Amino acid sequence: MVTTTRRIEEKGQRTPRSKDTYAGERVGHGGSCYCDCGAVFENKRWHYAGKEASVRGGQRLVCPACRRTAERNPAGIVSLSGGFLTVHLPEIDRLLRKMADEALTKNPLNRVMEIRHNGLDGITVTTTQVKLAQKIGREVFKSFGGELQYHWSRGEELVRVQWFRQP
Ligand SMILES: [Zn+2]
Repeated sequence: MVTTTRRIEEKGQRTPRSKDTYAGERVGHGGSCYCDCGAVFENKRWHYAGKEASVRGGQRLVCPACRRTAERNPAGIVSLSGGFLTVHLPEIDRLLRKMADEALTKNPLNRVMEIRHNGLDGITVTTTQVKLAQKIGREVFKSFGGELQYHWSRGEELVRVQWFRQP
């Protein structure tokens, strides 16, 4: 079962925001830039260059994804819980890490910030963009069944994805 909830928070007091506050920022000087995480800004777009990022030269900066991580401000929060998880932890963890690697190399701004194991409380995955959180929820649901819910807030700038399955 998949449920979606859309909710407007901070009604009335809200300051207008773009869909992604961080990614919308301009990169200065029009030239190429790199971040220590391996993200490179070239030809007006970000891509992943890994360890070679600094070798390419250009201006060193902190990319939007690293700033989100430093400010502990995820755009997506995926919570996985239920007894099924404790029994199938290795497979689920493998899927999460594979998705994290793929996301980073595809688009370094759309990536996993942290995969945190909370013991019996399950796993929490934080992401820098809402799309990746939705995708992770969808993949876990597709592979392992269970129940999936999306909760939107902050004018759809933040999504909480909850997945649950009993043993
Ligand atoms: Zn970075």
